[in-house]
Formats: sequence, structure tokens, C-alpha cells
Amino acid sequence: MPYLEAPERLGEVFEGEPGYRADQLREWLYKTPVLRPESMTNLPGGIRQRLEGHLWPFEVELEQFADKGRTRKWLFRAPDGAAIESVLMGYPRRATLCISSQAGCALGCTFCATGQFGFERNLEAGEIVAQVAFAQAFLRQIGMPGVPDHLTNIVFMGMGEPLANYPRVREALRRMIEFMGFSARSITVSTVGIVPGIRMLADEPWPVYLAISLHAADDELRSRLVPINKRYSLAELEAAAADYLEKKRRRLSIEWTMMDGVNDTADQAEKLARIALRLRAHVNLIALNPTPLTQEKAPKGTVIRAFAGMLEGRGVNVTIRDTRGRDIDAACGQLRVFSGKRGLGG
Ligand code: SAH
Ligand code: SF4
Repeated sequence: MPYLEAPERLGEVFEGEPGYRADQLREWLYKTPVLRPESMTNLPGGIRQRLEGHLWPFEVELEQFADKGRTRKWLFRAPDGAAIESVLMGYPRRATLCISSQAGCALGCTFCATGQFGFERNLEAGEIVAQVAFAQAFLRQIGMPGVPDHLTNIVFMGMGEPLANYPRVREALRRMIEFMGFSARSITVSTVGIVPGIRMLADEPWPVYLAISLHAADDELRSRLVPINKRYSLAELEAAAADYLEKKRRRLSIEWTMMDGVNDTADQAEKLARIALRLRAHVNLIALNPTPLTQEKAPKGTVIRAFAGMLEGRGVNVTIRDTRGRDIDAACGQLRVFSGKRGLGG
């Protein structure tokens, strides 16, 4: 499975073949991905056949559409049974892929379906990159009507906490940027606030965008919603985010999943505004998406708009995010499929 190899080591897939074969395959994998080896037209038939069934490190188990075909969710299944989900969202001038960095997640945020069903395993760098290559091949060869024929944005907002799988996510970023040709500016890493991970990412050569999933602006409430806050407090998280901003000069974003009566109050808006202004961060408000075990509800639209208004009134940049793919459980926080042997999911 060539995506599982480091791009530099592809020669090993082609033992006994001339060196340029590895270069040709590298082009097909990273620059102009295709869905099937048979489309790798400059490779001899024998090699294409050898790759048949081994190109991707997973099988496509399920493909779902929503939003008139402009949202597509894939459930990929690795040979060991691990589930990997990606969501492609097409727009007139953008195609954004939401990728997973882990199968499941160990961090147990109360409102997140992935967190509710526990942790399965870290994804390999190749499994992360293959999600991107697959979507790229899909857009190139099949496409979505009225949507660019290539990915313009990649967001680590699928299953898992990217900074809890640091070395593999780092290697995946390296391949996306150095081999696939994505600019760091087209990539967003979303984190719940793994402080050492943020500090390491700040020292990498790539200025990727950082999104902080905050959801609460004081330690008491945040520790209730996001258990990892007991380990890395808000003050430590803010300091690490400020360090990232200082080093990378990339505008930070703060993600805020809105829950009725929980974090939609004037008090939270006030505290959030202070943090956002100090970090010069853009705030994205997301109405809670329904998950099987969440008691909370999304606030009414008027409440969300009022909350946005309170932030704006204090000089904060705010966007109310549209929720794509809700009806196919493809929206933020809804990804959760498991192998069936572990966890409760099906
Ligand atoms: N672990 C990372 C990235 C994956 S979660 C993180 O937490 O940032 C991606 C985003 O979805 C996060 O901002 C997360 O807080 C949000 N999210 C989780 N559950 C949600 C839900 N039920 N409704 C709306 N957003 C949710
Ligand atoms: Fe994990 Fe992010 Fe879900 Fe929290 S919100 S459980 S960190 S995937």
C-alpha cells in the first residue's frame, strides 16, 4: 500500500524496476492522484496490476451525499477494521475536505459523537494523507457540479484530536505540503487544546492555520464540557495560542459549539470576547449538531445571532458557521463509526 510508505521510500515498492518508476508513481500518488491504478497510464500493465487492490490503505465502505451532492461523506475501512471518515464540502470557488487524524478520540468532550464512543487507534501518516489523495482523485476524475476540480482547503476537523497523534500528523502535514503541493495556508489544524502539541506545531516550518476549540471561557464550565481542560487550563492554552500567533503570524480561530443555556449566555460572551480580543482571533459559532448521547440542544437561531451580536459589539470578528451534512451525520462532531467489535457504534 504505497500511501503507507514515506514518499522517499517508494523505490522499495518497485524492487527490481528502474528508479524512474518510483518517481512516476510518486507523481500519481501525490501530484495527480487517481482512484484506480489502471489510470496510471505511463506505468507498465504489470505494475498497475500489482497495485490493483493495494493502492489505498483502506476500502470505501460507504459513500453518502447531502446538500444536493455538494457534501459527500466517505467511510473508509482499514484492513484491521478501523473506521476512517472524511467529509468533502463543495462550494462555487472552494472544495474543503474535513479529515480524521484518529479512529475515535480519547478526550471525551461531552457533546461530541466521536468522543462519546471512545478511542480506537491513531491513524498512520499514510492513512491521513490517503484521505486527501482520495478526495483529490475524486474531484479530478468524477467531480462535483459547479465545484473546483481540486481541493482548496484541508481541515483536521473529522474524527480525533490531531495534536494527540503528533508525530503522524506532522508527517502527514509534511507530505501534503512538500509532496502534494498544498500551501500551509490551505490547511487548518483544529485542536481541543493540547498545549505541548500547540507549542511543537509553533516550531514547525509550516504556518498552518490553528483553530482552538474553546466552547467555554472559564475553567469551571470548560472542564465540564472538555475534560482535557483539567490538564491544560485556559490560561495555559491561551499562552500557547499567543505563542503560536507570535511565531506564525497566522490569524487564529476560536471554535465555539453553541449549547442552549450552557455557553450562550451574556457572561460567556463577555469572557470569550476578552480572550478573542487578546488573541486577535476570529470566532466561529457552530450550532450544536445532534449526537446520540448529547442531552444538550442547539440554541434558537435568534439566541445564536444575539450571542454573535454581543461579541461584535465588543469588537470581535464572528462568523456563524453553516452546518453541512447534518442529515448524513457528516457535520462537525457527528463522526463516530466504529468497527462494531469495540465501542457502541454500528
Ligand atoms: N479534536 C479536534 C478536531 C476534531 S472536532 C477538536 O476538538 O478541535 C472538530 C470540531 O467539531 C471541534 O471544533 C469540535 O469542538 C466540534 N464539535 C464536536 N462535537 C460537535 C457537535 N456535536 N456539534 C457541533 N460541533 C461539534
Ligand atoms: Fe475529541 Fe475533538 Fe471530539 Fe473533543 S471535540 S472528543 S477532542 S474529536
